Amino acid sequence: MRPELYQRLRCPRCQGRLGLQVEAGTYDDVTTGWLDCLACVERFAIISGIPRFVPCEAYADSVGILWDAFRHAVLDSALGLTQNHDRFLQQSGWTVDELQGKWILEVGCGVGRFTEIAFQAGANIVAVDYSTAVDVCHKNLGDDPRLHYVQGDIYGLPFRPAQFDYVYCFGLLHRLPDPRSAILHLSTHLKPGGKLAVDIAPPRWFRRFGPTAWLRFLTRHMSRATALKFSMALTNALLPVQRALGMVPGIGRRLERLLPIAPIDTLGLCTREVQHERACLAMCDRLTATHHQPGCRDKLTEWLTDAGINDRQIFATQWIVGRGSKPVAHQSNSSMSTPTQPRAA
Ligand SMILES: [Zn+2]
Repeated sequence: MRPELYQRLRCPRCQGRLGLQVEAGTYDDVTTGWLDCLACVERFAIISGIPRFVPCEAYADSVGILWDAFRHAVLDSALGLTQNHDRFLQQSGWTVDELQGKWILEVGCGVGRFTEIAFQAGANIVAVDYSTAVDVCHKNLGDDPRLHYVQGDIYGLPFRPAQFDYVYCFGLLHRLPDPRSAILHLSTHLKPGGKLAVDIAPPRWFRRFGPTAWLRFLTRHMSRATALKFSMALTNALLPVQRALGMVPGIGRRLERLLPIAPIDTLGLCTREVQHERACLAMCDRLTATHHQPGCRDKLTEWLTDAGINDRQIFATQWIVGRGSKPVAHQSNSSMSTPTQPRAA
């Protein structure tokens, strides 16, 4: 952890300043240490150079193991593809040039599929994830003065408010208990004039009533390690069947939905081996997810309005995408939205 990140941190409970105690490393690059709130009694660990603002069971979980096993299935740099690059620019509407030197907050970084895109654009990134996937992100992207990692909760982000030029959150909102509150929390970290981009999964009948939904009754309480083994076995068995069904003229795509496995067309253009890994990851994610809260255009418009985001653009790709900007401080336009205070989750 470097001073540039430390200066931005605040206690997620009370917004108090944090005292730094270094146990390994230096003040310019802390490997192990503690962050003590100077206003309340909270104490947060720094482990492997990453400050941890989650309960200790979350930084000892096995999600990182899952992601580490499949790290090459999702990174553009590992696959020699531009899928994440293209999705990032399409969904955010931001250009590579405008990100140069800016401060960006990414929440739900996972293994860094979009982090590496923003980093390549020359921005300073603070990548946040609730799980130990943030450690895999660190492993994948390494150390750089412009890269900062935090294990934290979207409902209690450990930062001073209004200090980021850009905030984005892709592929996460539908997995949260309260996506609206999450967007309200994200918006508080934007500077006046800063830009926000989010996406959420659209409602699909097969996700609510299809075979995966039924299977989840059996698997949702499995450990990630068990779920991963189960998903690998199921993927091995079902992917060839799905490919065969998909070739049925006319109704192939509909028949694919009858199996508890991600449709081939949602896995992206890649080799069969990578498709297999992505299908397995997607199945494990679906079978163990605690929440599935799809969104629609109307809801996303309402949530962004509640968050005080102006210049809103809502559109559908494979996801429902919402983006806009926070009003500059002196703006007195009557159409300007007044943000609602986020609720504690
Ligand atoms: Zn505190």
